[in-house]
Amino acid sequence: MANVWSSGVTFHENELQLSGMPAHKLARDFGTPTFFIDEVDFRERALAWGEALNESFGDRAGHVYYAGKAFVCVEVAKWIAECGIGLDVCTGGELAVAIAANFPASKIQVHGNNKSVAEITKAIEIGVGTIVVDSLVEISRVAEAARKHGKVQAILLRLTPGIEAHTHESIATAHEDVKFGFSIASGAAWTAVLAARSHPEIELRGFHGHIGSQILSMDAFAVSADRLIELMGKFRDEFGAQLPELDLGGGYGISYLPEDEPLLPQDVLPYLANAVKTSCATYGLDIPRISIEPGRAIVGPAMFTLYEVGTTKNVVLESGANRNYISIDGGMSDNIRPALYGAEYITVLANRTSSAPLIASRVVGKHCETGDIIIRDIQLPADIAPGDLLAVPATGAYGRSMASNYNHVPRPPVVALLHGKARVILRRETEADLLGLDV
Ligand SMILES: *Cc1c(COP(=O)(O)O)cnc(C)c1O
Repeated sequence: MANVWSSGVTFHENELQLSGMPAHKLARDFGTPTFFIDEVDFRERALAWGEALNESFGDRAGHVYYAGKAFVCVEVAKWIAECGIGLDVCTGGELAVAIAANFPASKIQVHGNNKSVAEITKAIEIGVGTIVVDSLVEISRVAEAARKHGKVQAILLRLTPGIEAHTHESIATAHEDVKFGFSIASGAAWTAVLAARSHPEIELRGFHGHIGSQILSMDAFAVSADRLIELMGKFRDEFGAQLPELDLGGGYGISYLPEDEPLLPQDVLPYLANAVKTSCATYGLDIPRISIEPGRAIVGPAMFTLYEVGTTKNVVLESGANRNYISIDGGMSDNIRPALYGAEYITVLANRTSSAPLIASRVVGKHCETGDIIIRDIQLPADIAPGDLLAVPATGAYGRSMASNYNHVPRPPVVALLHGKARVILRRETEADLLGLDV
């Protein structure tokens, strides 16, 4: 059974506690719903990925780039910089957060399948280390912007290695029907290589592949790496020199449910090192500098969401069984993943213990949709009542970052806990914030 909570979460004195702060106090001081982030746990995970990359690849280690889209704000970008790892951004907005945090530009990598001229220009202006190029149009845009700034921009080409990684399985596919990147099989990748080499303002440093998200088995990463390395072999054969860099992307799965065994850096990196070594030997290449891009695996387990129960109702199903509907004060606006992907979570009663029998329950939000469900089927104590607190673990990734204002619900704050002290790092949105957009 995997632990779905961050390292600072304990259950004692009949309550869930984070960094020694009991749930009822967290709710009283910061309101609900609120995302609580365990700063110690976040930093430990960021450092662990960095250390595992260095240990496994030695002088062939590139960077760990934290995928900001999982969750980033100015304070978190500062933590990432302090942990000595890089930052992946994929929009002008995420880049603005990095700039506001004074993030070292050389350790910023820019993604996106439709980067605007303005976004590319800004990135080149501040001197980002790498732009991961996604299309032929973008190659010309990058060359043009670099020329205007009198710079040579380092790029990687994003390639689709023909692998579709699913949540719990990986299958190799013949076609590559996705919006991202250049397909290797169709020859688009090679066309992009030639296009990139035709611009003196562009330095092609290597390839990039990202096969999916919440992947719980490692083999797809090795297949992807092999296809990218094979193309690096073709490049060396054609041009006599080897491309120096390879980015293997992110997607390392975490435990949402106790039965999900997460991919941990101390397992993933030695595995990748071995796979890369084998492929490089096959194609007669030196090992390139390897980078990776974990997002979820760093921030996902570091946060939980605390909600207050507002109403409950019992429903008798056709089968004769009962179901307890528990409505919390957030919902699909702060966690869209169950509605969007059928993602599954657990929850616990956080403010007290209960010896009431467990009954079939469904945890739902406050939005005007039947599909506004956080947990579809779970056994919870029968006496859960208005005013109780429910904590949902592993909401750090793609929770707050995908939050919306649906139904004009202000987005929840993020509160960081460190050594028994709590501080707001992203404040709660207010109705005034929302009305501020009306002209
Ligand atoms: C989303 C994404 C990541 C991070 O994925 P996680 O599942 O959060 O690790 C990394 N690289 C790219 C290119 C992505 O699109």
